[in-house]
Amino acid sequence: MSAIFKKELSKEQLEELFNSDDKCYEFLAEIKWSEGFTCKKCGNTNYCSGKTPYSRRCTRCKTEESAAAGTIFHNCKFQVSKAFYIAYNVCKGKEDISTYEYARRLSLRQMTCWNFKTKIRTAIEQMDTLKDNERLSLNKILTS
Ligand SMILES: [Zn+2]
Repeated sequence: MSAIFKKELSKEQLEELFNSDDKCYEFLAEIKWSEGFTCKKCGNTNYCSGKTPYSRRCTRCKTEESAAAGTIFHNCKFQVSKAFYIAYNVCKGKEDISTYEYARRLSLRQMTCWNFKTKIRTAIEQMDTLKDNERLSLNKILTS
């Protein structure tokens, strides 16, 4: 896992991601549908935009997929930009930031930070046992 976040993101790009949920969803959508959109339900490749930022909605069966679906950011109970901050630092950070420090920096509960940090760590460790699509998403996010 030494190659995580392979392509270096510039300081400016990171600042943008850490400060804007919209940017995070845009980033996720770009990675996720980099090879085009295919509806998970019916296989249709035509879409229009959905209700949430950067989500896509199948034009045939109307199934909507959010940008975060199938990634470690799915069902995240706090702002995705904060989750990005933790994910990036866990994967790429030079220092091991404690969950108390994350809580302080992000104005989150320590337990929330602990849970998410553990989720990422576990995902990295268990990369091989994840379902294919989950692994792909995580891999893509961590290496893009
Ligand atoms: Zn469909």
